[in-house]
Amino acid sequence: MKAARYGYVSAESAAQACGLLHDGGGMAKVLGGGQSLGPMMNLRLVQPELLVDVRAIAALNHCSATADAVALGAATTHAAIEDRKVEDATQGLMPFVASAIAYRAIRNRGTLGGSLAHADPSADWVNLMPLLDAQIVVLGPSGERTVRAVDWMLGAFTTVLRDDELISAVRIDRLSERARWSYYKVQRKAGEYADALAGFVSDPARAVCRGLIGATDGRPHVFAAEPLLDRWDADYAHTQLRAAGIKGDTYEYRIHAVALERAAAQLRQKVAVAP
Ligand SMILES: Cc1cc2nc3c(=O)[nH]c(=O)nc-3n(C[C@H](O)[C@H](O)[C@H](O)COP(=O)(O)OP(=O)(O)OC[C@H]3O[C@@H](n4cnc5c(N)ncnc54)[C@H](O)[C@@H]3O)c2cc1C
Repeated sequence: MKAARYGYVSAESAAQACGLLHDGGGMAKVLGGGQSLGPMMNLRLVQPELLVDVRAIAALNHCSATADAVALGAATTHAAIEDRKVEDATQGLMPFVASAIAYRAIRNRGTLGGSLAHADPSADWVNLMPLLDAQIVVLGPSGERTVRAVDWMLGAFTTVLRDDELISAVRIDRLSERARWSYYKVQRKAGEYADALAGFVSDPARAVCRGLIGATDGRPHVFAAEPLLDRWDADYAHTQLRAAGIKGDTYEYRIHAVALERAAAQLRQKVAVAP
């Protein structure tokens, strides 16, 4: 099947893109890398009247770095992160995660902003950004606003983004050189969306110690990870799995529990360095 007829504009500025989205009244859609939108249009799950291509907008391609944080433009591709063509604030965590998103052809075109806007609960950035406590910068007709990644998703494929807004950048605080991280996905084959995923970041120099349970039916669950840092605490893990909305004694529960336990074990294998 092919997509229904649609119009196309390559926007030159964020203001032009927001204006087109506003005028489109919900029938205009942002085009990022097209790696999710394209298949959805071909299946006619969505039938926008106008695609507003945002890849040529300078602000969405701009990446900047300070001593404390890195800001990546929303049009940054998964491949650019994997290849470290943009600065990494995360001591290798983001390039590691990027390298296991789908297949290289998809990574060459798929974007950070597109993935966050799409908000598939099994996708990687929408789970990792809350673990990193990143901030998502959104542009709309009334200017710029910043949303904490933990507040981004309202549910599966649903975010706080409005129809006439676009994501312009993502700000990620730097981890220190002594930071430890782990990230574990359960997937049927390499390149497929995760059935379960879990991760940890421990960085005492930045007072960061978080765990993640992702690829649930809804929002990612980020929790205080201290009780799982030194040993496996099954009761605490169970409490967090239930808080993530995963029902006990099911196949789903088991794969999430395995992902969490393996991610915790991976973190423990990375020996902590005294601050
Ligand atoms: C076979 C396959 C396997 C995949 N496996 C994985 C995987 O393992 N992990 C993973 O994370 N992802 C996976 N993906 C998804 C892939 O990462 C996509 O690149 C991503 O979901 C969408 O990014 P995009 O830039 O292509 O966005 P598009 O497809 O262009 O757009 C997706 C949605 O986001 C909106 N949008 C795009 N850019 C913006 C913006 N800047 N501001 C506001 N809205 C915007 C669009 O309007 C649309 O609603 C897979 C995709 C395929 C086809």
